[in-house]
Amino acid sequence: SCAISPKAIVSDACASYSTLEDLNHDVKPALDNLTRTTDFFSHYRLNLFNKRCPFWNDENGMCGNIACAVETLDNEEDIPEVWRASELGKLEGPRAKHPGKSVQRQEPKRPLQGKLGENVGESCVVEYDDECDDRDYCVPDDESATSKGDYVSLLRNPERFTGYAGDGAKQVWDAVYRENCFQKSSFPQSASLGETYSVPKGPAAMDFRAVMQAAGRQQVLEQQREQNPLVPFVAKTGLEFEDECLEKRVFYKVVSGMHASISTHLCWDFLNQTTGQWQPNLSCYINRLHKFPDRISNLYFNYALLTRAVAKLGPYLSSHEEYTFCTGDPAQDADTRAKVLAVTSKAANSVPGPVFDESLMFKNGEGPSLKEDFRNRFRNVSRLMDCVGCDKCRLWGKLQTAGYGTALKVLFEFADNDAVSTTKTDEIPFKLKRTELVALFNTYARLSSSLDAIQKFRAMVEESEYQI
Ligand code: FAD
Repeated sequence: SCAISPKAIVSDACASYSTLEDLNHDVKPALDNLTRTTDFFSHYRLNLFNKRCPFWNDENGMCGNIACAVETLDNEEDIPEVWRASELGKLEGPRAKHPGKSVQRQEPKRPLQGKLGENVGESCVVEYDDECDDRDYCVPDDESATSKGDYVSLLRNPERFTGYAGDGAKQVWDAVYRENCFQKSSFPQSASLGETYSVPKGPAAMDFRAVMQAAGRQQVLEQQREQNPLVPFVAKTGLEFEDECLEKRVFYKVVSGMHASISTHLCWDFLNQTTGQWQPNLSCYINRLHKFPDRISNLYFNYALLTRAVAKLGPYLSSHEEYTFCTGDPAQDADTRAKVLAVTSKAANSVPGPVFDESLMFKNGEGPSLKEDFRNRFRNVSRLMDCVGCDKCRLWGKLQTAGYGTALKVLFEFADNDAVSTTKTDEIPFKLKRTELVALFNTYARLSSSLDAIQKFRAMVEESEYQI
């Protein structure tokens, strides 16, 4: 067994790039087959246009809108209109509208527990049961919006260079990384006499207690917390915190790996504005990835994490014989099902033992509260995707955060594989929505193609160095 620990930096002797590249060599054809040739996995439903950025005003032109992104392109005026960021970022292809509520009401409602996604009917379009589940790591896409969203063809809208850049994009990435501030976000490092501070919940509370302990006031805090969440305290400390806990590092790796994967695709599928050709851009790769081995390492880390989640899901999917991927067409159902199981079994069998060892996480005394904090922060990252001011980027940003959210849910909320064989079907304590499944497998496919592109870019770098 050569499992990648959450502590590992990929490139360690065991968790090597080549192990994962070999694995990808095996998995990628099956994954491409699944995501490119089945209706179920090549269409994604999301609320792309009806949700506002919940964190800042993206209407005042400050950030996050298309105009902002367009302005930041050099000599935008010189670029033919069809190549401008606003054009490149647009969605293409017909979008299926979600049928109205009346159609849904006629359909039977899915049971809350148990069988994985049955009745995902109406040729894979209608979906029920979108209420938020405590165990979700992302915000279900219709949380606050009135519309159920649109169906988008992922094949017609590949993730690639769009020209979206500048302050708008930077503001989103900055906010994503700020979410990694597990312990400093909600409480002060020092406190002033007579001022009132809100007592944080979760792991931050532990550190809040540490502040109080250092100030000899832990008892007071504990007592007052019972009665009143707003605790006035009078300590003044200058305590610095050691905040590099394992979970925080994993959170960072996940978002940085996602960022690296997006960068890889935009560099790989780059528009040469002189020739009008879509082609790899080597200097884009060198400047964004090659010079930053940690980013590449995080991308491989995510690949290992997703492989483990997909492998873990396999027994759940295969033990639900009645799970239909597209009711109404048994042949298509069977085809999709076979393609999904081809991916899960390759992900499970390509290396001896699990490829990623999640069991070390959320283990210590703070485990449960840390997990809640982790989950909430990841949900915020998913909400931040509504601040992305380019339709195509928002589509893929939302899909991938949903995909990672699903992977984390499978890793940390689902019982181990062993439990599947011993658990009665109607007691299996989880369910996945269609959108979660589609997001998970497509995010895995994104990482798979990133690994492929990185290998090719690496060869191009070696070749160019050889020529020099
Ligand atoms: P950025 O990529 O914007 O990075 C900002 C800063 O983050 C960098 O200066 C660096 O300090 C740090 N950083 C960069 N990479 C990493 C990493 N992997 N790990 C840790 N830190 C890092 N553009 C497209 O052309 N196509 C797309 O599909 C697309 N999708 C996007 C999706 C989202 C959610 C967002 C927020 C942006 C997207 N963009 C897309 C824009 C793209 O990601 C860049 O923001 C843009 O190309 C500008 O790049 P940059 O060189 O200024 O640095």
